[in-house]
Order: sequence, then C-alpha cells, then structure tokens
Amino acid sequence: MITDKFFVDYDYVSSPENINTAANSLSDRKPMLLALEYIKNIVKKYADKNRYNQVLDLKSFGIALWMIKLINQRNLTSRFIIEQRDVFENEILRLIKNDIESFIDYCHRAKINVFVSNNIIKIPFNFFITYNKKISGFKYRLIYQKMENGLIIVDEGQIAHLLRENFVEKINIIYNSINIDQAAQIFKSYQSEINLIRDEFIKINAKNEMKLGDVDFTKFPPCIIEYLNEIRDNQNLPHLARFTLVSFLHSIGMSNADMINIFRNVPDFNEKMTTYQVEHITGIISGTEYSPPKCVTLRSNHLCYMDDDPLCRKINHPLEYYKKKKFRKS
Ligand code: SF4
Repeated sequence: MITDKFFVDYDYVSSPENINTAANSLSDRKPMLLALEYIKNIVKKYADKNRYNQVLDLKSFGIALWMIKLINQRNLTSRFIIEQRDVFENEILRLIKNDIESFIDYCHRAKINVFVSNNIIKIPFNFFITYNKKISGFKYRLIYQKMENGLIIVDEGQIAHLLRENFVEKINIIYNSINIDQAAQIFKSYQSEINLIRDEFIKINAKNEMKLGDVDFTKFPPCIIEYLNEIRDNQNLPHLARFTLVSFLHSIGMSNADMINIFRNVPDFNEKMTTYQVEHITGIISGTEYSPPKCVTLRSNHLCYMDDDPLCRKINHPLEYYKKKKFRKS
C-alpha cells in the first residue's frame, strides 16, 4: 500500500473522521506532536524568510493541513502548501527512481492516467495542457513535446513538476472544503497552543509585508495584486502574467532594480534571466517600452481576477484602473 510509504492520500486527508482519530489518539500522539512542531517551525522560519521543508507521514500531513485551516492565515496556508509541494515533488522523484510501482499506484489513486513501460512515462494530452501553464521554460511548451498515440512522453523532471501542480490544486480544493467549526472541534484540546501559533504568525507577517517603493499598492487592479500575491507566496507566474506585471510596474514608475527584487521570491528565480526580461520589457535592451496587455487579453488567458470589483467593469486596461483610482482619491 502506498500509504505506508507516501505522505499523500487525498481520500484520507479529506475525511474529518480520519483526522479526528489521528489527532486525538491516546495510544499514538506522535502524528499530532509532529504536525504541531512542523507548523511552529514554518512560522519561525517565515520570520527570517527561510523555507522549512520536512517529509511528514500520512497522518501528520493530514493533521497539519486541518490545523492550518483552523489557524486561517492566508500567508501561512500558502507557505505550508508551497513547502509541502516541494516535499511532494522530491518524493515523487524518489519514487520514480526507486519504487516505480508506488509511483504508478499514487497516480492511479490520484486518478491520473500515467503509462509507464521500459522507463518511458506517457501522460494524457489533457493532463499536460491543464498543468503546464504555471510552469515556465520551453520544456513545458506544447510545441516541444513528443507525442505517441495521443499521449505525451515526459521525462522524470517534467512529470514531477506537472504532478506537483496537480497536488497544489487538489490540496487547495481539500483545504477549501474543510469546515472550520469541525476543525475547531477536532483540535479543541490544543486550542490555546494553536492560538499562540496564530498570534505569533500575525506579528511576523505584519513585519514581512512586501515593500513596493513609492508606487501606490492600494490603487492596483485585482489582477496585479493577484500576481504580486502569487510571487510573495513563492509561486511561479505564467509568462504573460510576468510580462503584464513588469510592464505595469514600469509604466507607473517602479525602478528595474525594485522589480527584480520582487521576482526574487519566485521558485525558479534566475537573476540573469530576470534582469534580461525586465530590461527587454522596459526598453533598455529592446528599445521598446512595452505596455501591459488589455483586460480582454488577460481575460482570455485566464489572468483576469476582477471578481465583483465594480471599477473593473468600467475599464478596458489595467493602467486605466490604476489611473482612475488614483485620480478619484486625489
Ligand atoms: S478587468 Fe482588467 S484590470 Fe480588472 S482584474 Fe481583469 S484584467 Fe485586471
């Protein structure tokens, strides 16, 4: 059974009964103590903007996820998911190298059709195009893929990256479905300890807020705020979102050095490449100062986050949003 060897089982983690039994077991307190210790360490490391990766067992991982829901701090949730996403990716790579049967078993349990024969891994086209969008690099562009009978042939690194994105999506769905009152009930014996963790995190988070120089963050449109939030939470941005962010920030007067500093948070940060891209978009290399795309383009690329923002309904361009808001307030 993969659950003996692997820390993710989505059915297990979704079940309040399983989490309650694991968290309140009198005969085995280890999973609960490990989950508490892990979350405390994430908070401690967050204070120094450091990472804290650790492979949890199946029960500790489930308990930690439910506890994170109860703590209910967006940045802590993101940090937890990102840390565990990276642990997950390493574990997937380990399985592919050392235990291919467990890798296949995991994929089947996660309802992902992978086909492995003679060390060649193939995945359905739809799976590839669902998860390649958040991954940068030519290796993930459809045009460079080898196909065979409607399946895409991927290497170990590619499948681990794609599964990682699928993991994040699944964990977010489970996280959003957790009933916070039910979580409070499960952890009622640990309430004071959990409150202390929350208070500590709120203090640290206030100090860590991203600095944006002289530009006025409060007037940014929802799409730009979302891209910045994703970067702050160490997520990779799709290429068009990066382009939009850089051209937007340049248009409103942010320096290239400040922009490059913002991108230091993304997991695949490469200073040389980022500097080149920023200098290209801002005209230093290309001679053309690019403008951000219109809302219609962002919308058709699933990069518009207007929700019910009333100003978004009246404008056609992210810069128009910024200018209108600035003008209104002055
Ligand atoms: S409507 Fe335009 S400005 Fe508003 S979130 Fe969408 S893309 Fe951004």
